[in-house]
Amino acid sequence: MRSLDDLLTEGVSGRRVLVRSDLNVPLHKGTGEITDDGRIRASLPTVQALRDAGARVIVAAHLGRPKGTPDPQFSLAPVAARLGELLGTTVPLAADVAGQDAAAKAAALGNGDVLLLQNVRFEAAETSKDDAERGALADRLAGLADVYVDDAFGAVHRKHASVFDVALRLPHYAGRLVARELDVLTRLSTDPDRPYVVVLGGSKVSDKLAVIEALLPKVDRLLVGGGMCFTFLAAQDHGVGSSLLEADQVDTCRRLLAEAGGRIVLPVDILCADRFAADAETSLTPADAIPDDLMGLDIGPLTVDLFTAELVDARTVFWNGPMGVFELAPFAAGTRGVAEAVSAVEGLSVVGGGDSAAAVRQLGLDEDAYGHISTGGGASLEYLEGRELPGLTVLDDRSGS
Ligand code: ADP
Ligand code: MG
Repeated sequence: MRSLDDLLTEGVSGRRVLVRSDLNVPLHKGTGEITDDGRIRASLPTVQALRDAGARVIVAAHLGRPKGTPDPQFSLAPVAARLGELLGTTVPLAADVAGQDAAAKAAALGNGDVLLLQNVRFEAAETSKDDAERGALADRLAGLADVYVDDAFGAVHRKHASVFDVALRLPHYAGRLVARELDVLTRLSTDPDRPYVVVLGGSKVSDKLAVIEALLPKVDRLLVGGGMCFTFLAAQDHGVGSSLLEADQVDTCRRLLAEAGGRIVLPVDILCADRFAADAETSLTPADAIPDDLMGLDIGPLTVDLFTAELVDARTVFWNGPMGVFELAPFAAGTRGVAEAVSAVEGLSVVGGGDSAAAVRQLGLDEDAYGHISTGGGASLEYLEGRELPGLTVLDDRSGS
């Protein structure tokens, strides 16, 4: 896989470089303002290095899930403004993805200038299952530039036109963020320093069973909290009240518990509520005695202590998924406690997952205390599952492309 440094060594002054970045930031529902610009910041090293080398930079990105047609609600306008602020320059936004306006604005770029294309998902072809449809869009995107740099780690698990097909049409390189994410994920999957502890939470156990299966043979301990712990507790024949439960996954969880031979660690106490609300009536209960009329919305303090003790001697940690409904203040303590224990680990600590990364920032924790905060939740989980990621395969020239 050729890197950005390889491209810089070749020389990019005056060349038009199409960069696929992951600028899919959360927007405030009322004002449309960017609520967390972490992904824009993470895209800067690649864009800045190209500008410094005199490239004409054309950035392609998606935002949200528009239905394959222009929709002002998903315009990249606020992202262009923020990207410009962070780069200390003006970043014009093309009115289209790869149409007349994009071509005109790309032709007008001077060395070191940056252009942002409009949301690639305004074109239905971007996410099409049909190779020819995606190919036609990729032809137009490739026509804007001389080389392609993929820096959109959060999208490498997608076989989309701007991620996959365009790389088949231009000399292609991995950007700095993709290289960094890959480096960290490789360290998690091959010969990690031990003890290797994985902490999983979040809402849906079915989303994460594949990664549990893949990681179980490799880890020393797997700590399970969040909404997914209740399906495991049910697999131990405990009642879980009205907590999240995926009844069709109970048998799988029972088998995983048996296979793990004690390496899966479950909560011992749960913070329950009478309803899903910030002003709900709350009570702490043992994890094996959740009353029928209550729902578990966070792990309890004894569990935070237990998980902290399991993490204290770890040398490699991967954490994905909040321990509770951290968005509501009364149910944030479990996530905070585990986030602090993960940040205190000596060795490699990795936070993966959009909501987990948001929790770290929202709870005001020090981002620099972690070895790495991944920008791509789905992509990192699929990598750890051992699945092939189309956006990475296509960058790897040994694959024949
Ligand atoms: P990530 O994006 O980090 O991979 P997920 O998307 O899997 O994480 O899960 C995040 C969501 O899980 C959060 O919105 C949080 O409120 C929810 N969650 C955590 N614990 C619970 C729980 N006990 N009950 C319901 N939802 C929960
Ligand atoms: Mg999420």
